[in-house]
Amino acid sequence: VTRYTLTLREDHDERLRALVMPRDGNEGAALILCGTASILADPWDGIPTLKLVSREVVPIGDEDLVSSSPAHITCRTNTFARALKRAASEGLTVGFVHSHPRGHTGFSPKDDSEEPLLVELAQHRNGLDAKVLSVVLTPDEGAVGRIWHDMSRYSPLSMVLVVGDTVRLSFDGRFQGQTPKAFHRQALAFGQALCADLAALRVVVVGCGATGSATSLLLARLGVRRLALIDGDPADETNLSRTHGLRMKDVSAGKLKVDVLKDHIQDLGLGTQVLAFPHWVGTPECRDVLRASDIVFGCTDDNDGRLLLNRLAYFYSIPVIDMGIRIDPSDDDPPRILEAAGRVTVVAPGTRCLLCRNVIDPERAREEQIKRENPEEHARQLGEGYVRGGGPSPAVITMTTEVACMAVDELIQRLTGYRAAGSRSQRVRKYHLLEDKRPGSREQECRICVDQGYWGRGDVEPFLDRVG
Ligand SMILES: [Zn+2]
Ligand SMILES: [Zn+2]
Repeated sequence: VTRYTLTLREDHDERLRALVMPRDGNEGAALILCGTASILADPWDGIPTLKLVSREVVPIGDEDLVSSSPAHITCRTNTFARALKRAASEGLTVGFVHSHPRGHTGFSPKDDSEEPLLVELAQHRNGLDAKVLSVVLTPDEGAVGRIWHDMSRYSPLSMVLVVGDTVRLSFDGRFQGQTPKAFHRQALAFGQALCADLAALRVVVVGCGATGSATSLLLARLGVRRLALIDGDPADETNLSRTHGLRMKDVSAGKLKVDVLKDHIQDLGLGTQVLAFPHWVGTPECRDVLRASDIVFGCTDDNDGRLLLNRLAYFYSIPVIDMGIRIDPSDDDPPRILEAAGRVTVVAPGTRCLLCRNVIDPERAREEQIKRENPEEHARQLGEGYVRGGGPSPAVITMTTEVACMAVDELIQRLTGYRAAGSRSQRVRKYHLLEDKRPGSREQECRICVDQGYWGRGDVEPFLDRVG
């Protein structure tokens, strides 16, 4: 049995609510076009999964509205037919979205009898593989949905996720069950919904060094139950000063960072299911886990890897919470700290990307690619001065751990909305000044974050439209 989920961009959710819950109290309706992520087997539970990702909201034109009351809506199908045409040519799925201002919080008997007519139309036009999504927005900011396979069969959506400045989850049983005892103290702060949401999310941490180890442990202790770690590097002795969970005997045994961290988290006994991917994030082995995830934390110094995560955020509407620190010591002996800063950036459709925020150095990304794919060529170019070398950069555990706390706190904020000051798409903490700053981004054309061609596109060939 396949699992179906829907990821709705927050601005789409707001627009849809305005369209389907008009102030006159009558029922309204709208369409959405969705990209898809088709995952053969979810890495955590093995279940085949189809994730729909909202790409565009299509209002139903007034000329299509026949009649509407608080209890029903009747539309002609012209707008639907035009949407089907686009869906066929761009490989998208059409969704019908409406509300029940009074009465049913789920689908009504009338929905059950009328939606098959839309399915018939869709399959008549786009072939028997065409599926139709149907969503009912509920007044409590939630949503229920189902996907029709043919005129008589449908599957319910197991989760609807709204992502943007907030991250909102709708799924069956969210308010049932008890918060496990281990999480009682944080439930005193946020209630049991946070615990239920964290338990439902799939979270990937890319990089298992200083910031990645701190981030993973914070997530596990908060109550994230499905965690995946990506890092291809072995642990070395210089990591011991700031990698949580790492021991000298792990280094001596030549263990990989992902394996050490995975074992350490599982030993906590919180029931966290941790998957370890001992690969560079850009390898095909990591694709399914990235596509299956709901949230990604970027904890690497790797510019080329960040380029990939930067695209992932827009193609699949998966918020990428990226972090880094920078310490600038002077050349004096002993050095003075000229600047020490920790940065957290949240990348998703509607915000500027890591390139526009000067977080990624494309030239460095190219050098990293040469080094990874052709170490001899890299050594030659280094000798001839065509690529920059790079010694280890300064790092201090208090700063790397603090930036991990800031990053995970940004997730808590988006799930709970606890901050009076709201969410932040970028925050830089200047440790040497005891100040937080909000640097802006470069105002420039950008294929990724300004042009919306990639947003909600889902699966394409090649993956993320990345060549090489
Ligand atoms: Zn209805
Ligand atoms: Zn950009």
